[in-house]
Amino acid sequence: MRKPMMAGNWKMNKTWAESVVLAQQISNRSREYWDDQVDVVICPAMVNIKAVNSVFEFDKTPASVGAQNCHWEPKGAFTGEASIPMIREAGASWCIVGHSERREYFAETDETVNRKVAALLEGGVAPIVCVGESLAVREAGDYLEFVTSQVRADFAGIEDNQAKTCVVAYEPIWAIGTGRTALPEQAQEVCAAIRACLADRYGSEISDEMRVLYGGSMKPANVEGLMTQKDIDGGLVGGAALEAESFVELIAACI
Ligand code: PEP
Repeated sequence: MRKPMMAGNWKMNKTWAESVVLAQQISNRSREYWDDQVDVVICPAMVNIKAVNSVFEFDKTPASVGAQNCHWEPKGAFTGEASIPMIREAGASWCIVGHSERREYFAETDETVNRKVAALLEGGVAPIVCVGESLAVREAGDYLEFVTSQVRADFAGIEDNQAKTCVVAYEPIWAIGTGRTALPEQAQEVCAAIRACLADRYGSEISDEMRVLYGGSMKPANVEGLMTQKDIDGGLVGGAALEAESFVELIAACI
């Protein structure tokens, strides 16, 4: 039985003060909506990780904090980057890697994603590895091969016992921030292919333990259909995570 996960990716939204307010609003609703039946993860902007983590620590909120990116080197001359020890010390226990926006705007490749996954596991921070196809790839029909080849490349060299800690998020690019969600059956088809690919690599005992999330315009109106799919274990959410009310509804749908 896999524990569901609902992760909010705030992207480059919310100042420090706004982040504290939203974290507090989410925290205030936690008792009413969930305790430990679901892993709730909030990924604010890098500079706000500590503030959000402090709210959750102070309130003993059943939620953890993640980063949206990291560098694979522990320190050095990499202007503008943050290392894994830095995000971890700030309070991040998770880190999103390979988000399509980073692949598109910041030249993230499967090779750099793989380096980050390995370094995160080494550094004690759990990766949320994003994969997903563009509209052109979907329309060409070879999206299953595309997505599973991303999974194979992103997990290259990652051992069985380390892979278990990772979460994979299937995020079709054509559904991110567009309001256009993948139909539950479309999302299930790809999430099942991801799990089969993980089973090929690690065996079904491990792949059955690993969580596969869906991301792409997930909202209260469509979450139920997605969450009833066999291979979808939760969501990675952008827009609907920016309001406490909609985000806690997504959390509630996981229970
Ligand atoms: C995302 O960017 O990870 C995402 C899924 O965004 P949205 O929910 O806004 O589509």
